[in-house]
Amino acid sequence: MSAAHFSQSYREARHRFLAAASRAGAGVESLVHPLKGVEGEEIAMDAALVGAADAPSLFIVSSGTHGPEGFAGSACQLALLGDELLARAARGGIAVLLVHAVNPYGFSHTMRTNEDNIDLNRNFNDFSQPYPANDTYEQVHPLLVPATWPPSPEDDAHLAVAMAKVAGIRTPGVSSGQATHPDGLFYAGTAPSWSNATVRAILRRHGAHRRHIAWIDVHTGLGPYGHGEKIFGRHSAETLARAQDWWGRDLMVSTMADSVSPRTTGHITGCAPQECPDAAITPMTLEYGTLPNPDVRRALRGQAWLFGHPDAPPATARAIRKATRDAFYIDADAWKGMILGQFRALALQTINGLSA
Ligand SMILES: [Zn+2]
Repeated sequence: MSAAHFSQSYREARHRFLAAASRAGAGVESLVHPLKGVEGEEIAMDAALVGAADAPSLFIVSSGTHGPEGFAGSACQLALLGDELLARAARGGIAVLLVHAVNPYGFSHTMRTNEDNIDLNRNFNDFSQPYPANDTYEQVHPLLVPATWPPSPEDDAHLAVAMAKVAGIRTPGVSSGQATHPDGLFYAGTAPSWSNATVRAILRRHGAHRRHIAWIDVHTGLGPYGHGEKIFGRHSAETLARAQDWWGRDLMVSTMADSVSPRTTGHITGCAPQECPDAAITPMTLEYGTLPNPDVRRALRGQAWLFGHPDAPPATARAIRKATRDAFYIDADAWKGMILGQFRALALQTINGLSA
């Protein structure tokens, strides 16, 4: 595995992914997005299936749910397409489905959110119900997204105080999601996004007839530099036991030791049981650390501000996009090696688990 699997733009990442999928003999389906990329290029969610359409098990790896976080996920997918692990999967009765650029608009335009500033990992909700109120977010919204950018030192000082006040609150926390500020952070939207509908269609087509499905959705931006945190949501005890058998006891169960039932925030892997109700599903959000949290938060604030100020001076817009890219993609060989090494271990564990 090598740092060479990492690309420098969405366009390059997509091109390399499609070429590698073709070399691997994958069946590829490109779901073209209605808008264009930052270079005017076509953008799409590309799904590559390696292996038998009727294999009993399916191993899904998805990238770019949060735009430029896709540089890491895309590299993991590219590495896997050239890996002998694919032959091992085939021997185990496993097809591999790689979903490239779940949020192609954000990937190309260097936005964690999509074309409507929707955080896709808050968008997979039941929209027949009102999105739960988030009083915690309400308290900090005006400070997170200030009137001017860059924020003044006073703005930042006030935000630090406000964030300290709500630091211990998890249900809901600041980042749990919110549906009241379309110009804010962690915005859930008011309807299923293009990416939501497209991912669901891919799942139904490739997953609904399988017996077992494992799904790793690759993210970056939280946790220690280069460390891959294995995040596991709210699932049955049986599913948790299976996940721990495969991936070890160091899964981070996002709802552990909490008697208050946390509300659904609409994360992407939560749609798998809805679209593939007959399959046993083992999902993971794989979250790689990049920069310290205050730097990542500042990038998110800038990006939200820019969404609300499309007429911002070009230099300001460029600086915000660069900060966003730097917050979610560390362009350094050491970091890239950590990403790919940990991913390969997890991919092997997943294939072993599905083969058993
Ligand atoms: Zn993410």
